[in-house]
Amino acid sequence: MARQYREDMKEPKPKSVKLAALQPASKPRMSKATAKPRKPKSAYSTEEVEEIFRRFSVQRPEPKGELNYVNPFTLVVAVALSAQATDVGVNKATKALFAIADTPEKMLALGEDAVREHIRTIGLYRNKAKNVIALSRMLVEDFDGEVPRDRDELVKLPGVGRKTANVVLSMAFGQATIAVDTHIFRIANRIGLAPGKTPDQVEDHLVRVIPNHYLYHAHHWLILHGRYTCKARRPECEHCIIADLCKAAEKTNTIPAPLVALPPQVF
Ligand code: SF4
Repeated sequence: MARQYREDMKEPKPKSVKLAALQPASKPRMSKATAKPRKPKSAYSTEEVEEIFRRFSVQRPEPKGELNYVNPFTLVVAVALSAQATDVGVNKATKALFAIADTPEKMLALGEDAVREHIRTIGLYRNKAKNVIALSRMLVEDFDGEVPRDRDELVKLPGVGRKTANVVLSMAFGQATIAVDTHIFRIANRIGLAPGKTPDQVEDHLVRVIPNHYLYHAHHWLILHGRYTCKARRPECEHCIIADLCKAAEKTNTIPAPLVALPPQVF
């Protein structure tokens, strides 16, 4: 009997087994290496985002891009040329170019040397001239000379990335896209509207936070706000129509500028 008692003492205590079984199942913890980073949140409520874009829509009812073009092909070329260049500079260079070559066929016939001469005032012009000829060739050979309306097809063109494709889809084909350029990237992060570490992250975030009914013009509203008011070096908060709503750390004014429609853009 004494021996039996000693063996029983070696068994696990039934009480502790019961307690373990009663513990609520907790989620397995992810290690730091496997845990997904949390997506940064917008600093604004749905109502605040609605109000921001309502004001943009009153200020610029019909916002437009500032690149000159005459058809989808010249738009693709103009946007591709605008990388690391100003719209004004691109417009100066393309005025004469598009007058003689407004189709991929004509651009191919013009040739790389002549294209290079036309655009030599634009940064990276040698490489850009190569791309203009290469994308013209691809349009002629693979797309019957037509600019495709599909992002996956557009980004196959030499010199055309996601940003250029989004601009073309929006401006030439009326699709609601957000092409994240330097202004949009800065504003989205500076004011905390749609923070993201890369342009793709910002694009994805903006598409989720901007109300659908404002999405089509949002791209231009944000670019123009960044170009003329929320400037890179010194944001002009004293002229800003969303100064009361803005949550940027560097804002210098909290009184919004009068909300009036600006005169139509003149290029
Ligand atoms: S208040 Fe200043 S920082 Fe904020 S959006 Fe306006 S210009 Fe930019």
